[in-house]
Amino acid sequence: MTRPTRATIDLSALRGNLAVARQHAGAARLWAVIKADAYGHGLMRAAGALEDLADGFALLDLADAIALREAGFRQPILLLEGFFEADEIPLLAEHGLTPVVHTLEQVEMLTSAALPARLPVYLKINTGMNRLGLSAEEFHAALTALDTLSCVASVTLMTHFADADLERGIVWQMARFDEAVQGCDQAVSLANSAALLRFPEARRGWARPGIMLYGSSPFPQDESAEALGLRPAMTLSSQLIAVQDLAAGERIGYGGIFTAERPMRIGIVACGYADGYPRHAPTGTPILVEGRRTRTVGRVSMDMIMVDLDGIPDAGIGSPVVLWGEGMPVDEVAAAAGTVSYELLCALAPRVPVIETNG
Ligand SMILES: *Cc1c(COP(=O)(O)O)cnc(C)c1O
Repeated sequence: MTRPTRATIDLSALRGNLAVARQHAGAARLWAVIKADAYGHGLMRAAGALEDLADGFALLDLADAIALREAGFRQPILLLEGFFEADEIPLLAEHGLTPVVHTLEQVEMLTSAALPARLPVYLKINTGMNRLGLSAEEFHAALTALDTLSCVASVTLMTHFADADLERGIVWQMARFDEAVQGCDQAVSLANSAALLRFPEARRGWARPGIMLYGSSPFPQDESAEALGLRPAMTLSSQLIAVQDLAAGERIGYGGIFTAERPMRIGIVACGYADGYPRHAPTGTPILVEGRRTRTVGRVSMDMIMVDLDGIPDAGIGSPVVLWGEGMPVDEVAAAAGTVSYELLCALAPRVPVIETNG
């Protein structure tokens, strides 16, 4: 027997979730966002599953983009942070990649580039996220400069929403965007998952769904993934490898932060923070044992966590445990741990063996 910790990646869920994105997209085309190793699901695996359904792939790393090309993927590839140094630009053209241009420095580098092929670019406008993007004035200067460059095949106008999942929404940023691009006839790219699902006015040009493809809700406090028709693409599972019977007053785990107030049966799960389970998940974080919901108790350690077996009398060594995924929404685990599903999925550790399924 090997250590029973596994991540099962359901390729049919990835495909089904992209179909849900498509239902919401109207006439918009879809970049499948597969940055961060496809949010922990595996870059090549996700690209292979989504190949015939997505209009293109969006990611960050030039080496990953080239690896996709070398693996035979021919669809458009968008590099969300663009290029970092001028010597990357010929590689972009050679491999047919689309960089995001978000600084005047990048425009300058393009101006002096000698390219083997023409390059489509995305020009990013800062409409209030205040992370990447040109101001409205810089944007006009950049657009004028790019228009004169023979190496630029096309320009798409892009922005990114800060509050698409929240009360504040996107209307305030859309107003700034529409004002900045007034009179421009280029294609646009606006929506992340949250905007795609919530705001019909953002379904223009090329949408950029990420988290929803992996079966997680972009706004779990308002609407669950299940209610949105999304299915978990990753299930992190393990088993109980030991059981402890605690007397009242016994403490458990590092620091003894949990004390049994009455006699308790505790299951020890072979999964810890070195597998990607969040160390800051407190006592009470939901978890499935033998298909039944219970809670974690005590401090998460590197290789193990402890669970309350109260109400699951048939649980014992070898009992199946689902940390998140099928039957245990990652959004609920993330909420209990004070984080978002994105962080949990991306943090899946390389030591966890991955199994692919198809439904
Ligand atoms: C990560 C990212 C997305 C995808 O966002 P989700 O919330 O995962 O849908 C879209 N656009 C940009 C620029 C991003 O960096």
